[in-house]
Formats: sequence, structure tokens, C-alpha cells
Amino acid sequence: MLDLQHNTDPDEFEPMTWRRCEGPPPDRAPTALISCDQGHWCSLTNHTIADDGTVTPSLVCPTKECGWHVFVRLVDWQEAA
Ligand SMILES: [Zn+2]
Repeated sequence: MLDLQHNTDPDEFEPMTWRRCEGPPPDRAPTALISCDQGHWCSLTNHTIADDGTVTPSLVCPTKECGWHVFVRLVDWQEAA
């Protein structure tokens, strides 16, 4: 399990961090964007984020050549609500 830190800098999206964003309609439930270790962006729209920040199922970077595949936890997910 990999801990991803909360990214609070609007100008820098560092690798291995996450950022809160609005989910798709109709409910627009909060979800997150994360950045893999190569700095690729990945939406968690199709994942479940538990109260403690644990993401299920495991995460696969959408960039084809990347191969980043991990179980992650979003640090401070609840606190950042
Ligand atoms: Zn990647």
C-alpha cells in the first residue's frame, strides 16, 4: 500500500500526490486526481475511496507505456473534505 500525499499547490502537481475534484453527474460525489510516479494524471472516477483514503480497486496508470500499478491510500482524504 502506497501513501499519496495531499497536493495543495494549484500550480504544481508533483508525482505521487493527489488532488480533490468533483465527480461526474448526477451526484458529483467528490473524487480525486492523482499523479503517478512519472507525473501522469489519473482520475479516480471509477474507483471507490474509503473514509480513510484507501482506494479500491488497485490503480493502473492510464498511460500505456507506464505500467504503474499499485494499491494506494490518499493521506488526509477525510481531513481535506
Ligand atoms: Zn504513469
